[in-house]
Amino acid sequence: MDHPQNPVTVEVSNARSAAAACPGTLYVVATPIGNLGDITLRALDILRSVDVIAAEDTRMTSRLLNRHGISGRLIAVHEHNERRAAETVTGMLAGGKAVALVSDAGTPGISDPGAQVVAAARAAGHAVVPLPGANAAVAALSASGFDAARFLFCGFLPSRPAERRRALAELAAERALLVFYEAPHRIADCIADMCAILGGGREILIARELTKLHETLRRCRLDAAGEWLQGDEHRRRGEFVLVVEGAPGAAREEPDKAEGVLRVLLAELPLKQAVALAVQLTGGNRNELYSLALRLKQES
Ligand code: SAM
Repeated sequence: MDHPQNPVTVEVSNARSAAAACPGTLYVVATPIGNLGDITLRALDILRSVDVIAAEDTRMTSRLLNRHGISGRLIAVHEHNERRAAETVTGMLAGGKAVALVSDAGTPGISDPGAQVVAAARAAGHAVVPLPGANAAVAALSASGFDAARFLFCGFLPSRPAERRRALAELAAERALLVFYEAPHRIADCIADMCAILGGGREILIARELTKLHETLRRCRLDAAGEWLQGDEHRRRGEFVLVVEGAPGAAREEPDKAEGVLRVLLAELPLKQAVALAVQLTGGNRNELYSLALRLKQES
């Protein structure tokens, strides 16, 4: 028997209607993190059609706009003038202007200025429309191979070593994946501290120069990451995202017991001795117990 003709028709069209900006609306527009091709068609339409583009660095944004043949009116919104700029932008929105907010690279407000402008626009009752696109943290996560069902975006760690170590100790028991941004001049010290405080057995993804010519993705154990970085000076150059596994499961099962044991020992002994005894008593992981001991000591 013949099969009946499939009645479904599929309309295929390459036509694309350009997105046009609406008056009195703030558009939060993601821009490339390196490769200038990484900008959406909708972002280009909106940048073309808004009245004003509020940019972290107007020269940087001009380069992107020139590349795409867009000429727009630019105003500066950077971390030193953001509060004043937020007032200027809300004034423009109130006057019916459409405004696009961009940062130097990636998504505004993510370790970049933008949050104050958005908050002011929302508080004044203006429409705020996100235009998603490049973001270094998400790009690194997507290529990490880690289960990213739960992750904690930590941004930049403090630049001072003591504060950085304290911040890492606070994160040591976190079970979600940890995502950090880091600068090239701190990358080696930062990874050494992560290894000492989070434990060398965890896996890390070092994502360097994403979307650029020298893009490098290296996944290894934390205790092997320092050696890899030292292996070639180019590996310590550029922009970095670090994705680190969360605290391992075993430590989760009996955190109260290990913590209780450590509290008692720390009250009587120096930290190293307390940790060594806690390892014997609980059978726990030395690095994890060390991180926990650091945290308890800082808390007390
Ligand atoms: N708003 C941006 C975003 O959405 O990703 C982040 C801006 S923050 C000021 C800059 C930091 O992001 C860099 O120091 C680096 O840690 C990370 N980053 C930005 N671009 C990157 C790239 N192409 N490769 C790796 N990391 C990058």
